[in-house]
Amino acid sequence: MPFRDLVDQDHAVLLLRTAVRTGRVSHAYLFVGPRGVGRHNAAIAFAQLLNCERADGDACGQCRTCTLIASGQHPDVRVVDVAQGRLLDPEDTTKTGIGIKQVLALRREVVYPPYQSRWKVYVLVDAEAMTNEAANSLLKVLEEPPARVVIVLIAESTVPLLPTVVSRCQLVRFSLIPSPAIERALVERYGVPKGRARFVAALAGGELGRAVRWVTSEETQQRREQMLDLLERLEQADPLDRLDAAEEFAKDKDNLPELLEIALFWYRDILVWQQTGDEEQLINLDRRDRIAALATALSLALLNARIQAVEDAKDALEMNVHPRLLLETLFLRITPPTEPMPGRRT
Ligand SMILES: [Zn+2]
Repeated sequence: MPFRDLVDQDHAVLLLRTAVRTGRVSHAYLFVGPRGVGRHNAAIAFAQLLNCERADGDACGQCRTCTLIASGQHPDVRVVDVAQGRLLDPEDTTKTGIGIKQVLALRREVVYPPYQSRWKVYVLVDAEAMTNEAANSLLKVLEEPPARVVIVLIAESTVPLLPTVVSRCQLVRFSLIPSPAIERALVERYGVPKGRARFVAALAGGELGRAVRWVTSEETQQRREQMLDLLERLEQADPLDRLDAAEEFAKDKDNLPELLEIALFWYRDILVWQQTGDEEQLINLDRRDRIAALATALSLALLNARIQAVEDAKDALEMNVHPRLLLETLFLRITPPTEPMPGRRT
């Protein structure tokens, strides 16, 4: 994917495009930023721009070179991603982080000029998980960089890396993507309905990659529907139903943080509707009618108590409280309104 397909990250893109345009390409880059914001795609876009047969400020994305790079088949653009099993030395059986064998393979390769194109590009994913031995070996390449070779290290933070490695790389920072930009990308590129895109963008916490995984995953969609159905049901449920629900949802403990976020957005929506009546501010836009009904049925105090109950559950999760106990407490605190507001009951 060329740079124009990246969402946000204007600063990083400008820096990399300028390097190519002015012919001042550094021999090593360090892409630093959270997962899911486009670091990997930017590295591929950069490799394409460096080598594209029809580059015009950005890679064309269509020529043979661009296509081969995008599909991971180009002999001069190599990605080391241990988690994905993409290795330079296929004999290497190291499962955790980039080991010495990968770097030695890289060092053997970089002495040769590119086979087909202008630049050899090596992308090292999860560079922070590089062993010390590997990092020290890589340092030798960075100290005496071969011509026509660009090494891109991808990491979440510079902290775990050897300072000597960091200082030899040009730093390119990637940041979390604002949720309106994620929402737009979901609607325009993935054809997600606006109401759903709003919800997913809010929940993605600035990580487009996460948002895309969610909209393409049937399972995540089901989880969201189940949680929202439950929250609506709890408005009427008796204590036994609440305990049953806690038992049921506690089975899904890996997704508990996400479920609690969903609950928080739900009550936030009801609160927002109650205070503003502004549809534009709703995250669960597709459940607007239910939100409106609950905004009428629930008092401000009750809503605040629910939001507090979810926040407390999030704290409990941090402190490793047992999922079932945590959910029982939460669900029991979501009690039906005892005194309906006069004349406004639905
Ligand atoms: Zn091209």
